[in-house]
Amino acid sequence: MKIIFHLIDLSLVNAWLLYRRHCSQNQIHTKDVLSLLTFRIDVAKSLLQSSPPPPPVQRGRPSLQNISDQNNTTIDVRAAPVPVPPTSTRIDKFDHWPVSTTKGRCRNGRCLGYSRISCTKCKARLCLNEKKNCFKDYHH
Ligand SMILES: [Zn+2]
Ligand SMILES: [Zn+2]
Repeated sequence: MKIIFHLIDLSLVNAWLLYRRHCSQNQIHTKDVLSLLTFRIDVAKSLLQSSPPPPPVQRGRPSLQNISDQNNTTIDVRAAPVPVPPTSTRIDKFDHWPVSTTKGRCRNGRCLGYSRISCTKCKARLCLNEKKNCFKDYHH
């Protein structure tokens, strides 16, 4: 191992000598020319920076992000509301029939009620009981 280090050191010194010659050729001030030690440190730094980061970390992270992204997409799709039918369709007074369905939020304006009745054409749940008739209101 010592021989390898010695060889690296030799090549470093050679490189530094070349660098110094290059500096004198370009008439760079002696005080601006890096000392052998500074030169070595610079080379070491650049070697450290150019070395690639450990691969397992890089491989692990993107896959985790992908999984969370997929999960978010699924939640977004579930939370997305049913599109509101166009007003022209809603008030055309043609072919709107109440049908019983699963319980859900009434779609009539700001009504906060829940209904098991929905319109076949609008595909929207609307109250239709002894207290409220959102079904009629919604289609006017
Ligand atoms: Zn309708
Ligand atoms: Zn209602």
